[in-house]
Amino acid sequence: MVNFNENPVALAGWYIADCAAPIGQFTWENSLGSVSAVIVATSRIKAGELVVYALCRPSGHHACRDMAMGMCFLNNSAIAAVELRKQFDRVAIIDIDMHHGNGTQQIFYQRGDILTISIHGDSRDFYPFYSGFENEYGSGDGEGYNLNIPLPKGSNEAFYLKALEKSASRVLSFKAEALVVATGFDTFKSDPLGCFALESNSYYKIGRMIRSLNLPTLFVQEGGYFVEALRENARQLVKGFENV
Ligand SMILES: [Zn+2]
Repeated sequence: MVNFNENPVALAGWYIADCAAPIGQFTWENSLGSVSAVIVATSRIKAGELVVYALCRPSGHHACRDMAMGMCFLNNSAIAAVELRKQFDRVAIIDIDMHHGNGTQQIFYQRGDILTISIHGDSRDFYPFYSGFENEYGSGDGEGYNLNIPLPKGSNEAFYLKALEKSASRVLSFKAEALVVATGFDTFKSDPLGCFALESNSYYKIGRMIRSLNLPTLFVQEGGYFVEALRENARQLVKGFENV
């Protein structure tokens, strides 16, 4: 048995899945900053706000229960859902980042009170590779409460909106009382880590569709790496939600 106390490098390796989650001097402080943002955001939702947007960096949806990976250390969206669950009986998470929200799935895989849905690039071709497939439904009490919608490389707006429509109807049949949207913009056509073909205007339509669910909604910032368009894409999403 390895004695981690004698070897901090081994300890780091045990709890970090890949080379994209290095831990430095300010990692904990910054990760805690992200979590603080969602805690404040959830308190606003619990106080009756219809919608709040938590601007988190680092993002969180790849972080598992005890494993950092993919630039994620603490799972902000999952923490938000647990906080909201204290007030709402059923909470749904729709992950619209281009990559499978594997950490969020893992954390809630055996729970039936928090529904997890992820729309993402097919994991046979894209990170995180080892999860995100259609046959991952959840288990135990969570059986039927995890929905993965992998889409092929090059998926355009029409294709994407169909997947979102399917997600929305699952949220409705689940009778969710509050919604967390793990919000990534790496679905944009020019994103260097993405494979979809969404336009800026697509985010307006996504925002509208999410609004149509008529639920208290918390957007939690996840990925998005084409920095020049991030501001406009986030703006379109919010405008769509507000239907202006
Ligand atoms: Zn991503």
